[in-house]
Amino acid sequence: MYDVIIVGAGPIGSHTASKLAALGYKVIVLEQKEDAGENICCTGIISIECFNAFNLNASILRQANSAKFFAPCGEFIRLEREAPQAYIIDSASLDKSLKERAQKYGADYLLSTPVVAITPEADCVSATVNYQGKQRTFTAQVAVLACGSGSRLPEKIGLGRVSDFMVGAQAEVNTINIDEVEVYFDQNLFPSFFGWLVPTKSGKGLAGLLVPDNPASYLRSFLRHLQSQGKIASSEADMKFGTIPLGTLPRTCSDRIIVVGDAAGQVKPTTGGGIYYGLLCADIAVNCLHQAFLANNFSAAKLSIYHKQWQAKLDHELRTGYRARRLYKKLSNRRIDHLFQAAQANGIFKLIAEWPDFSFDWHRKLIFEIVKHLTPGLLSVALKPITKMRTNRPHY
Ligand SMILES: Cc1cc2nc3c(=O)[nH]c(=O)nc-3n(C[C@H](O)[C@H](O)[C@H](O)COP(=O)(O)OP(=O)(O)OC[C@H]3O[C@@H](n4cnc5c(N)ncnc54)[C@H](O)[C@@H]3O)c2cc1C
Repeated sequence: MYDVIIVGAGPIGSHTASKLAALGYKVIVLEQKEDAGENICCTGIISIECFNAFNLNASILRQANSAKFFAPCGEFIRLEREAPQAYIIDSASLDKSLKERAQKYGADYLLSTPVVAITPEADCVSATVNYQGKQRTFTAQVAVLACGSGSRLPEKIGLGRVSDFMVGAQAEVNTINIDEVEVYFDQNLFPSFFGWLVPTKSGKGLAGLLVPDNPASYLRSFLRHLQSQGKIASSEADMKFGTIPLGTLPRTCSDRIIVVGDAAGQVKPTTGGGIYYGLLCADIAVNCLHQAFLANNFSAAKLSIYHKQWQAKLDHELRTGYRARRLYKKLSNRRIDHLFQAAQANGIFKLIAEWPDFSFDWHRKLIFEIVKHLTPGLLSVALKPITKMRTNRPHY
């Protein structure tokens, strides 16, 4: 009998495990992969603020204080801040170091162990796993589902599901003279979303994109595009894929269960970055679980404080980011080119570069600032209620 079962040894599961183990709880992490950090699809861009706030430990490949944003026509705007804003890290090393930290605090890990069912009962919660070809059951007072965006476990226990996703594809490439992050907008190459070329180690980089579907075919086209521009040596590369939730789970807790990270949809809808928000919400979950243990009360009502608290922290950000994304989806390439020209002309990027309120992680103010400085027409579309702009409304 454990105090806490955590499903998933991604960054959010392991962070949750280390915080709970540090508080003295008996924790087990059940992970279906052979190890944390195996075969992951993540670019590894994390704000320095996040890195320091959570005392993260990972191989830092680069610091980033600038980026080039490319319009469909090929023109670009360069944004540079004086101080470095983010680290480009080796994501696998982050997942591994968070696992090691949790183990140091005493958390147990069981790898190559997919959880097939989670069942809350009157006096415990049980996790049924496939372990070495046999089914085994673990029990605990409470379970934390940190199983990422592809898992059906939350839906199986009646918490609903995230209804809107984007799909990410990424490949390591040999770069030619690429020293800063490049972000590409083009509705033909990346419908509704965007692509990137991020330098990592010397002469290496990650080329990737987010699209609604068919990521392999779009990434092939993007790689050919980059090669034709002389930015990468070859368009042949191994691709990795991942899904990113757009919108959150309708409920992120029930009796004896809490859901955190990508599984809960705690992701920036603007960029798809989920590590910072996931870590913030994991901390809220840990506090809430600690209170539940002190009160010996693991009911849905008691754990719902978690749902309320993380929503209070992120809800405005998520809604605004989601609205901006819906708005972007409607723009044609011509319109995007036009907006780039307008931005170039009115100096909005310079303003952002010098803006004291700039944050790599909190985009709400930035979105309003950009929209305000572009066209009044665009602002009015952006401010229309989401319900009038889409039929498939995500749950916030
Ligand atoms: C292409 C791409 C690029 C990205 N780049 C960035 C970036 O630069 N910065 C950023 O902040 N975010 C980025 N993200 C998002 C980031 O990777 C996620 O937000 C983050 O990994 C979420 O962590 P998590 O622990 O919630 O889930 P995951 O990292 O998905 O971990 C979930 C874990 O649970 C395990 N699991 C699932 N189901 C079960 C089961 N039934 N039993 C046992 N184990 C299970 C999985 O194997 C996995 O190890 C990117 C995503 C993609 C797709």
